[in-house]
Amino acid sequence: MKTSKLGINTVCAHVGEVKDEQFKGAISPLFMSSSYAYEDVAVKRYPRYFNTPNQEALGKKIAMLEHSEAGMIFGSGMAAVSTSLLAFLQKGDHVVVQKTIYGGTYNFIVEEFPKYGIEFSFTDGFSEADFASEIKENTKVIYLETPSNPLMLITDLEMIANLAKKHNLVSMIDNTFASPINQTPADFGIDIMIHSATKYMGGHSDICAGAVAASEVHIMRIWNVGKNLGGSLSDYTVWLLERSMKTMALRVNAQSKNAKRMAKWLEKHPLVAKVYYPGLKSHPDYELAKKQMKRFSGMLSFELLPDIDPDVFMKSLQLVKQSMSLAGVESTILSPTKTSHALLSAEERAHQGIADGLLRFSVGIEEKNDLIADFEQAFEAAVKKQVV
Ligand SMILES: *Cc1c(COP(=O)(O)O)cnc(C)c1O
Repeated sequence: MKTSKLGINTVCAHVGEVKDEQFKGAISPLFMSSSYAYEDVAVKRYPRYFNTPNQEALGKKIAMLEHSEAGMIFGSGMAAVSTSLLAFLQKGDHVVVQKTIYGGTYNFIVEEFPKYGIEFSFTDGFSEADFASEIKENTKVIYLETPSNPLMLITDLEMIANLAKKHNLVSMIDNTFASPINQTPADFGIDIMIHSATKYMGGHSDICAGAVAASEVHIMRIWNVGKNLGGSLSDYTVWLLERSMKTMALRVNAQSKNAKRMAKWLEKHPLVAKVYYPGLKSHPDYELAKKQMKRFSGMLSFELLPDIDPDVFMKSLQLVKQSMSLAGVESTILSPTKTSHALLSAEERAHQGIADGLLRFSVGIEEKNDLIADFEQAFEAAVKKQVV
């Protein structure tokens, strides 16, 4: 069977699985050993070496999903981010980082890089000129995230890959929001794909994990740093993550379809000022999103009219829960002003286009009509308490 021809659901369900030779069980057996007999110099299995049977199995699945040669599983998304960046940056090097990235990544760069003597600059925007103008003599890496959080702006993957090639840089993307079901950056020439597997890969809000996919050569470099930093994941959780990923395409496709329907519905709602979803024609990056994404993910944001209190609206929701995290099969919502972007000044938030009435909505797999009914009753409650 040629694995490169397999459809996405088959890849999710099968690729990488460990054969149970002994009992012929249907799923990968779980190997919890932290100690393995020495085979030869090349094969010394140990959990922190990212090479236990379950770790290797899941790495293969992630590699194939990302159209890459190799994959690695980490203890968290931030372990994957920090290890990947530190594998390609050393004292005196410089990295160009896209404006508006995940808060934890921003903190890692700003708080830790000065200690290592690594330089960084953030772009002013998302265009080629914005990235190109930050490249210096000592730049080694370009780091991006698309769609961006929370306004779902799109960075051109092909443009970044070409820019990186021209200047001999390594390009890295945090592909968490799209997931490999909706976006495979390797097809556009991006070198390294990073995930918080806590989100769509896990998908049930019960696992914290990370993943990286890239060429063998790049993964070897990340592995060399990874074994020193020690950000591996327990085999039990690796095994649970393998189970989650069997239904990943089913889940993410359902969530993406739901998100598009909800975005269209919200766009027509009289109490909604604006909807940010790259799958809407009204989104400034709609054409670019269509070029580089399959569906447009399950994440969207919308802005309530200024006289509607976002707190009353959110607290009135019964099905949709307030939550800091995202991408689970259950719908969740948060206010960026009160949570992820609370530390920014009101001015900076306004500059970035993040209004107080902006809400980020992670769309789950519930039936659309049930989500709409929940939103309708919350809108009614919010109108009753309208600020006049
Ligand atoms: C959650 C998240 C991370 C960090 O992942 P953890 O699993 O929490 O360490 C990184 N990037 C994005 C886009 C995320 O949403």
